[in-house]
Amino acid sequence: MPAVRNLLDVPPAAAREALEAWARGRGLPSWRASQVHRRLWVQPVAAWADATELPKPLREALEGEFPLPRLRPEVVQQSADGTRKYLWRLADGEAVESVLIPSGKRRTLCISSQAGCALGCVFCATGRMGFRRNLAAWEIAAQVRELVVRDPADKPTNIVFMGMGEPLLNWEQVDTALTILNQPEGFGIGARHITVSTVGILPGMVKLAARPEQFRLAISLHSPDPEARLGLMPVEKKYRLAAVLEAARAFRKRVTFEYVLIAGRNDRDGDADQLARLARPLGALVNLLPLHPGGSPGLVPSDGGRIRRFADRLRNQGIEAVVRRSRGLDIDAACGQLHVKLEPKRGRGAPVAR
Ligand code: SAH
Ligand code: SF4
Repeated sequence: MPAVRNLLDVPPAAAREALEAWARGRGLPSWRASQVHRRLWVQPVAAWADATELPKPLREALEGEFPLPRLRPEVVQQSADGTRKYLWRLADGEAVESVLIPSGKRRTLCISSQAGCALGCVFCATGRMGFRRNLAAWEIAAQVRELVVRDPADKPTNIVFMGMGEPLLNWEQVDTALTILNQPEGFGIGARHITVSTVGILPGMVKLAARPEQFRLAISLHSPDPEARLGLMPVEKKYRLAAVLEAARAFRKRVTFEYVLIAGRNDRDGDADQLARLARPLGALVNLLPLHPGGSPGLVPSDGGRIRRFADRLRNQGIEAVVRRSRGLDIDAACGQLHVKLEPKRGRGAPVAR
């Protein structure tokens, strides 16, 4: 039995080593290992049987030695605006979501890092589920792989860790997944096109900052006032806003603030002014997100006029602010929503699209 059995769960260099050792053991030339390796991420196959450039006995041996694990798409929903949402069923019955958002030449895939989330932000559908488990590195990267296996034209150009879960509470697996996503022998997606979104898990921020690649960091801020923030995000108790901003400064790369606008909770002119004061020294870009349904029932999205006014107020103070269009509202394409809606139906034939 080889030391590495799941080649998709290790960095590309480790997979190469494992394949070379395996090829040597079978008296095969090392170019065979390269040929096999390409089929992991560069030109991925669903199963070794599909790698028809390899001799049949070799394909069979690979299937026995290094089976390729898959995610099963339980639901695929296509929105009228082109947004496509996947609900993946994992081997142990858990489920996670990814959302593919095409925009011009860009295809951004929003991926999950955990099933559920322990942090309980009041506006978030995933938070309401509670924590189920961490995803393995291969399960994180497989959200990309499954798309490419189905249609190479769907390969995302950009990745955001803004699906289910808190990536920096699953650092080890996210660390490996980042390597797989980024390296040329993996999916070859540029580090500047990969964004890790966090509420501000300090130890994780330090580890991400220590990586030499220019991965992007998004901080879910949601309120410039610690007390109001605590009312929305229990994590504020453990990792305080001031400390999170300090860590963001140490990041030495431009950061983005994520800010979900909730009527009467964080959308006043005074909030915008305070937010501008926090964003300015960091040169942070502010992403304003309309609140999607799915969190606590009492929360109301800010109306369009309020959102525009909030954005203008930031811009007038020299802050770059972008109002994110709500995409895929007709298919529940926000964090955890599809899962929460579907889960009560389990076992009673949830809709299956593929
Ligand atoms: N746990 C990480 C990453 C996943 S959440 C984090 O919180 O940053 C990704 C983004 O989705 C966060 O910015 C979060 O605020 C946003 N989000 C969660 N619930 C939302 C909702 N109901 N409407 C709009 N955005 C939401
Ligand atoms: Fe977890 Fe992010 Fe949702 Fe908060 S917003 S509960 S950290 S997934």
